[in-house]
Amino acid sequence: MGLIVQKYGGTSVGSPERIKAVARCVAATRAAGNRVVVVVSAMAGETNRLLQLAGAVAAQPDARETDVLLATGEQVSVALLAMALRDAGVPAVSFLGHQIRIATDSVYGRARIKSIDADNVLHALEDGTVVVVAGFQGVDQGANITTLGRGGSDTSAVAIAAAVKADVCEIYTDVAGVYTTDPRICPNARKLARISYDEMLEMASLGAKVLQIRSVEFAKRYHVPVHVRSSFSDEPGTWVVEEDPSMEEVLVSGVTVDLNEAKITLQRVPDRPGLAAKILSPIANAHIVVDMIIQNASEEGFTDMTFTVPRADYQKALGMVREVAAEIGARGVTSDTSVAKVSVVGLGMRSHAGVAARMFQVLSKEGINIQMISTSEIKVSVVIDAKYAELAVRVLHHALVEHGFEEAAA
Ligand code: ADP
Ligand code: ASP
Ligand code: MG
Repeated sequence: MGLIVQKYGGTSVGSPERIKAVARCVAATRAAGNRVVVVVSAMAGETNRLLQLAGAVAAQPDARETDVLLATGEQVSVALLAMALRDAGVPAVSFLGHQIRIATDSVYGRARIKSIDADNVLHALEDGTVVVVAGFQGVDQGANITTLGRGGSDTSAVAIAAAVKADVCEIYTDVAGVYTTDPRICPNARKLARISYDEMLEMASLGAKVLQIRSVEFAKRYHVPVHVRSSFSDEPGTWVVEEDPSMEEVLVSGVTVDLNEAKITLQRVPDRPGLAAKILSPIANAHIVVDMIIQNASEEGFTDMTFTVPRADYQKALGMVREVAAEIGARGVTSDTSVAKVSVVGLGMRSHAGVAARMFQVLSKEGINIQMISTSEIKVSVVIDAKYAELAVRVLHHALVEHGFEEAAA
C-alpha cells in the first residue's frame, strides 16, 4: 500500500465540475489501495480577486490581515473537495494549515515552513480517510495565519510529503509536465520525462512557475520524488528526481522567462569599500531579495551600480535606495520596470563552453539589446527589454534546445 500526496492547482479546482473530477481522480487512487493526502490551491483567479479587494479598501493593506484574507481562498477549496469526496462515498476530512500545525516563521506573504505535525496527518489517514489540506497557508508561533508566497501550495504539498514520508508527491496542473520552456509561449516546447532537482531549482527560480522554488528545495533536501502532471489527462508527466550521469549529456534543457523583476540603478556612486553593503543592507533587512547585481568599472573614483528586485517590492526598494543615494552622494537613481529576465538552463553547461556566446549571438541577430548578464554553473541569464521577452524565448529555444535535439539525434 502506497502513501501518495496529490496537489491540485487553481485551474484544476477552478469550478464545481473540476472539483468533482478531482474527487474522482482521488477516489481512484484510493481505490487502488493507496492512502491519499490531497493539497489544494484556491480556485483559479480567487487569490488575485482577494488581493484586489484588499487593494480596494486600503492603499497599503496590512500584511497580517492580507494573509488572513488570502488564506480564505484555500479554505473554500478544501471544504468543497472534502464534500465532493464524501458525496462520492469516499471518507474525507479537510484541514486548514493551523489544524495540522504547519508551523512557519512570521514573514507574512512569504513565510517559510519550519515543521509539520505529521502524526496528526498520519492518524487521520489511518482508517482510509482521505486527508484534504489547504495549501499555501500556515501558522506562526503567535498563532497568526501566514501564507507562503504565490504558488505556495506546491511547497505545502512537498513539505507534507516529506513530513509523512510519502512515496511520491504528484503535482497536478494545467499542463502535462515540465517543458523545455513555457508551452504557452513556445508551441515547440517539449515535455521532459525527467529533470534533476538542480535544473528544476534553477528553472523555478528563473521564472518557470510550474513549481514554486521552495517546493523544489524541500524535494531535494528530503529526497521526495515529485511527479508533475496534468489534471486533465492520464498521460505520464515529468519526474523531478536525483541527477544521473545521462542528464549531463543534454546541454540546454530549458529556457525560462521572468517578467516579475524591476531594475534599479544608482548613478555615480563614490567607489569606496563598504558602499555596496550600505546600499543593499536596508533592502535585505526588509526581506527583499536582490537578484542580479552589476557594478561598472570604476572611472575617476565613481561607479554605477545596477540591481534587480521583485516587481512587487520595487516601490519599497526604490524608496530605500533614494534615501541611501542622497546620503552617500550618488548622482541619482534611475529605474525600469519593463524588463524581462530570460535564462537558459542545463547541466551540460558545466562541461561545455560556448552556450553564453551562442545565446548572445542569437539575441543580437534579432536586435535584442542585453542590459545585464549573470551566470552560474548551469545557467546563463540576461535582462532585456520586456517587449522582446517572448521573441527571445522562442529564438533561444529554437537555437539552443531544438537545435540541440537535432544534434543529439544525428
Ligand atoms: P497551478 O495553478 O496548477 O499551480 P501554475 O499556473 O502555477 O499552475 O503553473 C503552471 C503554469 O506554468 C503553466 O500553465 C505554464 O504556463 C507555466 N510554465 C512556465 N514555464 C513552464 C515550463 N517550463 N513547463 C511547464 N509549464 C510552465
Ligand atoms: N492560491 C495561491 C496562489 O494563487 C497559492 C497557489 O495557488 O499555489 O498563489
Ligand atoms: Mg502554481
